[in-house]
Amino acid sequence: MTAQPDQPTEPMTPHGPQGAEGNPFRALPSVDEALRLLESSVSMDVEPARLRPIPRAVLAELVQAELDAFRQRIGRDKLDVAAVRSEIEGGPFLARLLDACRIERGRGVVPAVNATGVVLHTNLGRAPVHPEVADRMRAAAMGYCVLELDRFSARRNERDARLGALLARATGAETGIAVNNCAAAAFLMMQTFAGGREAIVSRGELVEIGGSFRVPDVMERAGVRLVEVGSTNRTRIADYERAITEQTSLLMKVHTSNFRVVGFTEEVDPAEMARLGRERAITTGWDLGSGRLEAEGARSLDVVGDETVLRDAVASGIDAIAFSGDKLLGGPQAGLIVGRRAAIRALRKNPIYRAMRLDKVALSGLEATLELLAAGRGDEIPSRRLMHLTVADLGPVAERIAGAISALEGFEAEAVDSESQPGSGSAPTVFLPTKAVRVTWEGHAADHLANELRAGEPPVFVRVQDGAVHLDPRALLPGDEARLLQAFTALTR
Ligand SMILES: *Cc1c(COP(=O)(O)O)cnc(C)c1O
Repeated sequence: MTAQPDQPTEPMTPHGPQGAEGNPFRALPSVDEALRLLESSVSMDVEPARLRPIPRAVLAELVQAELDAFRQRIGRDKLDVAAVRSEIEGGPFLARLLDACRIERGRGVVPAVNATGVVLHTNLGRAPVHPEVADRMRAAAMGYCVLELDRFSARRNERDARLGALLARATGAETGIAVNNCAAAAFLMMQTFAGGREAIVSRGELVEIGGSFRVPDVMERAGVRLVEVGSTNRTRIADYERAITEQTSLLMKVHTSNFRVVGFTEEVDPAEMARLGRERAITTGWDLGSGRLEAEGARSLDVVGDETVLRDAVASGIDAIAFSGDKLLGGPQAGLIVGRRAAIRALRKNPIYRAMRLDKVALSGLEATLELLAAGRGDEIPSRRLMHLTVADLGPVAERIAGAISALEGFEAEAVDSESQPGSGSAPTVFLPTKAVRVTWEGHAADHLANELRAGEPPVFVRVQDGAVHLDPRALLPGDEARLLQAFTALTR
């Protein structure tokens, strides 16, 4: 494997007349010839290629696509035989093939470095789980496990029975249930409690929770007739009370996760809503989103601002409360609902639950995450640990990274005061003080540097701000600092 791109091992233009007068289309290699050229190039031998080999059939498709593009360009730009041959023999064609391979190998779910400072970054997979949690998930994934069976009585049971018990202990609720994500949890609540009937929601809470998940649209799809009450900034319990009819079967609160109404505002006290529901025999539900779980032995998550504490939400008396497993809880993706036994039983009996229930891997990860919290080890959960990092912790890391990047040819870097965010719609107005590394690359715009880092190996995600790339060390995990510097070093080659 020593052939150089500019020294093809095969004649690349075997099809016809070779002169400048010949047909340029016939100067193109066949798919097989192009494949041989690709396979003889040294770059195919690099590490990622071994980790993620590209099947030959896919390689052939990539080559075919490059040849098609080449053909189009020959027609459009009126390339002659000499121009075509120089691209093939001189290296540009091989470079395009290698680039197509690099992009193909880099697609899909691949590990990335998060230098954005956003701890719960939805596009980067939200909460990284604790290594012990990951071990449990791995064991569940790789083998058989006791899932829907009580091993001591041999009777069938619910797969999330243990999780329900852990959730109850952690939140003070009677029991709990788990589905794929909080969006599913909200849908299941609406459909179960108010499908074919009416639900009352405050106008101030008819939010879009990102990615086309709008409360009114979801309600419509759940077959719920939405009754809006109050105004954008103020809703009182009397508004709910007046709107109740024979058809009302759910009073619902939705946490306005990703935006804040400030100033002259009033929202309904959940305890008052719970009391109204009990008086009129109407179920009450609350989509809490982030799910701030405070646990003994772990530092308070007060750094994320005035997010409702789960235990307080449960204590308000609301029947069913939904929250995410991979936001502030710091576990794998899931939607969790805790509350009264009768409400949770109704959710479980809905046939739609069967289409939303958790798989064994996420379930084992959630159990392990809640067990860490129960054992007083909540501060070890990566996302919680990252939220608590201070400028005193992050400053030396930023200085070290700035020093290493400054030493690279063409780069300037300095540590600067900056702000990180918890992310994932939790606490949109909360900023965590941090030290970031401001980087500029001589002769390149900040956006270009950000693009190169994103497309590099490993992919690095950064913030672009005031014409410079900013690297926030807050969400770097063990090993990420070295990977980050490796990505920068690769740019200097
Ligand atoms: C984030 C959020 C959701 C969606 O949660 P996923 O776990 O991403 O499905 C739903 N409701 C609220 C209030 C949220 O904050």
